[in-house]
Amino acid sequence: MIHRLSRLLLALVGICAAGSTVGAAEWKVGLAQVKITPEQPLFMEGYASRDRPYEKIESDLFVKALVLEDREGHRAVLVTSDLIGLTAAVAEPICDRLRTKLGLQREQVLLNSSHIHTGPMLSLQPQPLRTGMSAADMERTIAYTRWLQDRIVEVVEKASAKLEPADLRWGHGVAHFVMNRREWTPTGVKLGANPRGLADRTVPVLRVDDAAGRMRAVLFGAAVHNTTLRPQHNRICGDYAGYAQAHVEQEHKGVQAMFMIGCAGDADPYPHGSYDLAREHGTALGKEVDRVVETKLQPVRGSLKVALAQVDLPLQEWPSREELQKRAATKRGLEALNAQRMLDLLDRGEKPPRTYRCPQAVWQLGDLTLVALSGEVVVDFVPLLENALGPNRLWIAAYSNDVYGYLPSARVLREGGYETRGIYAGSVGTFDPKAQDVLIETIRKLARDVGRQN
Ligand SMILES: [Zn+2]
Repeated sequence: MIHRLSRLLLALVGICAAGSTVGAAEWKVGLAQVKITPEQPLFMEGYASRDRPYEKIESDLFVKALVLEDREGHRAVLVTSDLIGLTAAVAEPICDRLRTKLGLQREQVLLNSSHIHTGPMLSLQPQPLRTGMSAADMERTIAYTRWLQDRIVEVVEKASAKLEPADLRWGHGVAHFVMNRREWTPTGVKLGANPRGLADRTVPVLRVDDAAGRMRAVLFGAAVHNTTLRPQHNRICGDYAGYAQAHVEQEHKGVQAMFMIGCAGDADPYPHGSYDLAREHGTALGKEVDRVVETKLQPVRGSLKVALAQVDLPLQEWPSREELQKRAATKRGLEALNAQRMLDLLDRGEKPPRTYRCPQAVWQLGDLTLVALSGEVVVDFVPLLENALGPNRLWIAAYSNDVYGYLPSARVLREGGYETRGIYAGSVGTFDPKAQDVLIETIRKLARDVGRQN
């Protein structure tokens, strides 16, 4: 009897201890989301072969903000979006406005896009970006892009205005539809499926609870292109990431689900090619998130420290003018376009750039390190970063703050293939194999600056 009573007392002590931990929440969190589904006829971004505006809305698109503040008042804002990606030209004016309006420094803001290929084209330049685009089409694209910038500022303002006590916990699951897409063929590496190739199938999950222990938000990721839908799919749709977020929000009423993409540069969903498959992959990912949030997660306790560096990544020397003329005349797609852009630049008397300056960020949340790389980063950077930083308590995201083109590893550059075609926004050129070491050293230093313990 006494034995039983003491067990009961112990259980009660356990409950009280859990209660007091919840009462003294480690964090403050602010959440908000805004719908960004276009209403005007707009061209979509992702596949160059599309020659007309989208035909209808398959699913809505959103931008979502998560504002984090630690006990000492250090604050940072993560914005996720169902979009192809924000170039520096689109992202930096947003960050300037957030600095003026909310006092947020550049390193306190992280802008990530899910890289859907069924969302609106973004541009602030009047030059038509596709055959079939009229001046009026470009005007609508520019107007949408400006409207989107306003929405992102708005969603951060909203989230910042309602910070509430919160606890964070994190863990990870697996996404089985992630496939390396660098397929070897007798004529070199082509876009396809390579089941032997490296792919990061991690589904990192951050669960946000309120002071009463109720889930309020979940941030999750996957390292795979949002390309279940292909050029023939001409409807606005959030692809698997949109369906996964919708699934989680439907299963957990009142919860904000946010998706942050990883090193997806050379990964495609497998199989792909229909709206049904996009929904299927999204539901599978959403169910995995449902499962992970109910498992034993690691508490995130301690300080928030953020760092961002503008890094000059080296570019390869340009080919000769004769070679560029040959490429512009005989190659197709981005390769021909890049050769023509290089020729145009030479004709204007400009010098080929030797580097591309791009933002790289590291956040330390307690003992969890979030690395937010810019560009379409290939999966090789996952083991490279694990080696540099240690593999534990590490969340690697890409497509953050500036999406300018693929960031291939030295290996991918050596092997060739789609990911070696060069920068498509903000500059012209192809990364040098040395860019890999520059990037890894930068992240190593940033991780040291924010206090990561290996
Ligand atoms: Zn891509």
